[in-house]
Amino acid sequence: MKLFSISSGSKGNCLFIKANKTSILVDAGVSYSLIEKGLLNNGENIFNVSAVLITHEHSDHTKGLAVLVKKCPQIKIYAHYSVCEILKRTMPIIESNLVEILSPVFYVEDFLVSAFKVPHDSRVCLNYSIFEEDKKFSIITDCGTVVPRIVEEIKDSNLIFIESNHNIDMLKANKDYSSNLKARILSEHGHLSNNAAANIISKIMVDNPKCRFVLCHLSSNNNTYELAIKEVSSIVKEQIGILPELEVAKELVKSDIFEI
Ligand SMILES: [Zn+2]
Ligand SMILES: [Zn+2]
Repeated sequence: MKLFSISSGSKGNCLFIKANKTSILVDAGVSYSLIEKGLLNNGENIFNVSAVLITHEHSDHTKGLAVLVKKCPQIKIYAHYSVCEILKRTMPIIESNLVEILSPVFYVEDFLVSAFKVPHDSRVCLNYSIFEEDKKFSIITDCGTVVPRIVEEIKDSNLIFIESNHNIDMLKANKDYSSNLKARILSEHGHLSNNAAANIISKIMVDNPKCRFVLCHLSSNNNTYELAIKEVSSIVKEQIGILPELEVAKELVKSDIFEI
């Protein structure tokens, strides 16, 4: 399985995953041209993408969707049924392109997908684990708090994209953010802080020390790439005595290719 991020952050999220002949995206929150360019730069063709798994309806995860499926009608949109309702109402999408996720486990060609709900201030937010043979990739994003059942879902992954949205002090000190917005982000239905991401990484690495992590959905206003890596690494080292293998998925910038 190989994967890379085309963009990760509040300006837009899109992740590419491929195994054998199956290519899928998770979210389409950037423009069609950025998705097409991101794929081409890694030798991938957008017309080979067969599906996009949508986490939730927020625009940083869906704003490229209508153009994407118009230009590439072979792409099926997988989303929770209540998110499908919102997409149908808010964007010009042909209904036959939508696939309502009705079961927590389903196949998309070569991939077995496990979908699970995470607490977030959207109608529903689904995060995913994606299996191919004995390999497992998981993404945790737009998640206010990681409850034990979510750790159970992802703990035996080979690679995890995990939200590391903000440094708590930077967010609290940010004069451009209203107190309501700060409370929303910090709430159990908001976004994971560097601190929260570190706690989950520690929990997982105790039993699965080879798991690799990519920090994602970093705020450009309340975090930096360097700070997130430094803060998460030092908390994990302090908690379990192991330095985690960390990378960062950036906003509007394609990541390295990760292979598992
Ligand atoms: Zn988001
Ligand atoms: Zn969101």
